[in-house]
Amino acid sequence: MTMESSGLIVQPRMADGSPLLRVSNVRKRFGDQVALDRASLDVYEGEVVAILGPSGSGKSTLVRCIDQLESIDGGSMSFEGELLGFEETRGHLRPLTDAGRRRQRRRMSMVFQQFNLFPHWTVLRNITEAPMRVHGVSAAEARQRALELLERIGLADKADAYPRHLSGGQQQRVAIARAVAVRPRILLFDEPTSALDPELVDEVLQTMKSLAAAGHTMVVVTHEVAFAREVADRCVFMANGRVVEDRPADDFFTDPRSERLRTFLTRSG
Ligand code: ADP
Ligand code: MG
Repeated sequence: MTMESSGLIVQPRMADGSPLLRVSNVRKRFGDQVALDRASLDVYEGEVVAILGPSGSGKSTLVRCIDQLESIDGGSMSFEGELLGFEETRGHLRPLTDAGRRRQRRRMSMVFQQFNLFPHWTVLRNITEAPMRVHGVSAAEARQRALELLERIGLADKADAYPRHLSGGQQQRVAIARAVAVRPRILLFDEPTSALDPELVDEVLQTMKSLAAAGHTMVVVTHEVAFAREVADRCVFMANGRVVEDRPADDFFTDPRSERLRTFLTRSG
């Protein structure tokens, strides 16, 4: 099977060498609680970026802001050179309309800790729904893509099963296939294995690894240190809503600069 036919399209790099995603000094607060404090991050086409950090450091908030599930209080984000969440009219920035936001969000897919498959739909329908309803893909094409993706992740025989008949690991792999089926330019993962029994974690990490190998641009919030080390190109460490370190994966683990990261890595084994 070619990558083209599997729906795992490898996009060319941005022609001008600029990042696919740029997060600049983003601030976000919930009441008095500062969740992001001038967080910055660049993600280039084809990169896998792992985000690590203690609980409450702002990892989820960062990816949720990128996906515009949360609004930001300061700073800016751009994607494919286009400002996220705002439009500029005659020199003034205005929040995007809902339609504009939906259009931007169609180019991203997020995979959550809780896979949230629709329980009353088959695996196949869970995967084909968004391509058909949101992206205008024909039923035949959506079905073809879904079957190829299922084949690729080793779940071809589950196409007509309902989520309740699948293990948690299988459900999360289907959720990942669903995210990929819309051919996003970037995949965002927020602790995709944290809700799973330990023995089911590996199969999900393997699925993610195959996506990385196929050239997908991925931002992965994870506690899986070994996965980050092996699969990520860059690792980012967050603490107190800030990006404290952002380094090539090898350096991140062998030569942590900050005391906080050293301590974190020691504790994470
Ligand atoms: P992480 O994913 O790294 O564990 P989060 O991004 O979930 O961290 O949270 C960062 C901070 O923002 C925490 O102090 C958290 O309590 C707070 N926070 C996150 N989401 C909300 C929310 N919806 N309402 C209030 N506080 C929130
Ligand atoms: Mg989180």
